[in-house]
Amino acid sequence: MSKLKKVVILGATGSVGSQSLDVIRDHQDSFEVFGVTANSNVNKMLQICSEFKPKYVVLADTKASSLLKEKLKSLRLKTEVLQGDKALQELSSNSESDIVISAIVGSAGLKPTLAAIEKGKRVLLANKESLVISGSIMMDAADKCNAEILPVDSEHNAIFQCLPSGYKVGVEPNSVSRLILTASGGPFLSKSLTDLGSVTPEQACAHPNWDMGAKISVDSATMMNKGFEVIEAYWLFKVDLEKIEVIVHPQSIVHSMVEYIDGSMIAHMAVHDMRLPIAFGLGWPARVKKAVPSLDLHQLSKLEFIAPDVKRFPCLQYAFDALNAGGATPAMLNAANEVAVAAFLQGQIKFIDISKIIDAVLQHFGNYKAGSLEEIMIADEKARCYADAVVRGRNIG
Ligand code: NDP
Repeated sequence: MSKLKKVVILGATGSVGSQSLDVIRDHQDSFEVFGVTANSNVNKMLQICSEFKPKYVVLADTKASSLLKEKLKSLRLKTEVLQGDKALQELSSNSESDIVISAIVGSAGLKPTLAAIEKGKRVLLANKESLVISGSIMMDAADKCNAEILPVDSEHNAIFQCLPSGYKVGVEPNSVSRLILTASGGPFLSKSLTDLGSVTPEQACAHPNWDMGAKISVDSATMMNKGFEVIEAYWLFKVDLEKIEVIVHPQSIVHSMVEYIDGSMIAHMAVHDMRLPIAFGLGWPARVKKAVPSLDLHQLSKLEFIAPDVKRFPCLQYAFDALNAGGATPAMLNAANEVAVAAFLQGQIKFIDISKIIDAVLQHFGNYKAGSLEEIMIADEKARCYADAVVRGRNIG
């Protein structure tokens, strides 16, 4: 009898985290929850601990973790509560676990993800921001420490499945001419630039196909998410940037495609449900039974593929430009985006100001050189301060 695989879920209270728990709930003969983390959501964490009884829980927020500790004690639950950013890294690199699911949102996911990679873990990567910030450092660490990165982002998971059997993330694949990332186009696909001026955070978060956290929903609406995915694909699959393309496919049935040099194109199709790439990563190389319902081809009336419009969605172009610029520019792109999206969600700026703030930051710093993680984090902080000043000064062009 094979032993249960011990799983750590970073960002367990979020959208990807909850769907990871769904998969484990359905496959308790194969996986167990060893550790879970969140920022401050005590109530949701209490429910998770009651149901899955993990050995460890970490909350980044110290007040919230003290409250959780009290509540767990009153329920006589034995889960050990740890707190703070350092504990996040300790749990993700704990030698007892087999798999780490990286599903914290934003740059907060970087250090715990890197800690898991440096420990040579299997890492199911949803936190794309960590690759955007420090792709070269992360991929070098994965190579050196023999970590196994498996993409959970549905597009990258699709590409991984379309690459030849035995393909290893981080190695240039043979005979590939194009990687084609599909994009749903988000909730504002058919809105004019004028209409985009008055959209609300609620509208931006109402994605037509996917139920996601607020930040990635807004990223999806601006197409910054697709820009980040271009950067993510560049690092994961080691192809030239010229070979990476984006196509809008509003139905989200084809999750991405790989074209080979002979003109063959292999596409991955499935219902849009994150439990599929999560189950894929957990079970790999075996397939997990019935991770999602079958795709009913009779129900599909059409599949459309449309060129993206970078005039209305300039963030996509900024990602290509930032990757071309190299150094700390992608990290600064991410930092500016995090500040701008948070300001939009708080009602401080308009939707169309998000791209303007990012542009202002990129213009201000130009091609910012950085090599080490420390240098990148300094650049990240500078970009945040500048973006914050632009938000507060409201001097958006
Ligand atoms: P959510 O906002 O739903 O969840 C975010 C999680 O991160 C929560 O558990 C949250 O804890 C935790 N968190 C937030 N800030 C911190 C912090 N400072 N320190 C520690 N933990 C923190 O996000 P999603 O699940 O939607 O997305 C997670 C990641 O996966 C993102 O990088 C996203 O781009 C990527 N992704 C998401 C997809 C989706 O379908 N949702 C699809 C593909 C990729 P708390 O609840 O306490 O705030």
